[in-house]
Amino acid sequence: MSEKFLSGKITLVTGSTSGIGLGIAKCLAQAGADIVLNGFGEHSQAEQDIQSLGVKTLFHGADMRKPLEIQDLVETIEKSWGQVDVLVNNAGIQHVSSIEDFPTDKWDDVLAINLTSSFHTTRLVLPGMRFKNWGRILNIASVHGLVASVNKSAYVAAKHGLVGLTKVTALETATTGITCNAICPGWVLTPLVQHQVDTRAKAMNISIAQATKQLLSEKEPSMQFTTPEELGALALFLCSVAGNNVRGVAWNMDGGWAAQ
Ligand code: NAD
Repeated sequence: MSEKFLSGKITLVTGSTSGIGLGIAKCLAQAGADIVLNGFGEHSQAEQDIQSLGVKTLFHGADMRKPLEIQDLVETIEKSWGQVDVLVNNAGIQHVSSIEDFPTDKWDDVLAINLTSSFHTTRLVLPGMRFKNWGRILNIASVHGLVASVNKSAYVAAKHGLVGLTKVTALETATTGITCNAICPGWVLTPLVQHQVDTRAKAMNISIAQATKQLLSEKEPSMQFTTPEELGALALFLCSVAGNNVRGVAWNMDGGWAAQ
């Protein structure tokens, strides 16, 4: 595998202004991919960091709840650079609450961002990938795409749905050079998880360090967070020639969480 094997590949990473999406974007850029960043909040530092790796960047702030904005995102890429080669469906949010207390608008947002947006990006990029007979679609699901936890009904439903969408996409492209797979992380210490640690520390009147240890010990036998860089390395593998016939897999990187 040559060091810059993704040179010139047009790569869209949704939700890449922080956390896992940004980590994966940087790994793919190190292999030469040009990167379209998306997400909320500050993005100029992320763009500078990625450009310093010698690749092009583009930013589009589409709200992944909104199909028309997703369409504008893909059309803008096609007009500016061409058809997308690598799609990483990463944007996601969490809301923690029992089913009875779950705010219905939060349910809609979690499903829209964590699941439905991937349907829209996938349907919009597939014609271009079919034309080139090459493509990589990586769906950042979760160990919660494989097993459940209490108080995460929308997230677990969305991530199980995303694993299902991954399998259907893989089957519908099985005879082509396009592959689709899911990556299923356990705990990764990003703003999404830091929020859960902080909420736990406050609710139980314990330190952040104690809350972190509790969080890991409940689910993750390795007692270690997976890092965005480790997830980026798996993404690179799936984009490489070694991934040519890896199709419809939901690959957990979860410190043993789902093995229990
Ligand atoms: P994060 O909060 O650091 O990043 C989420 C990204 O999504 C940000 O760039 C944010 O701006 C973007 N985003 C949120 N709502 C959006 C919207 N409506 N439109 C466009 N972008 C939006 O979270 P993270 O932990 O890096 O999560 C990334 C993905 O990884 C999510 O799909 C999450 O479910 C998944 N995941 C995270 C963990 C973990 O432990 N952190 C574990 C398993 C799976």
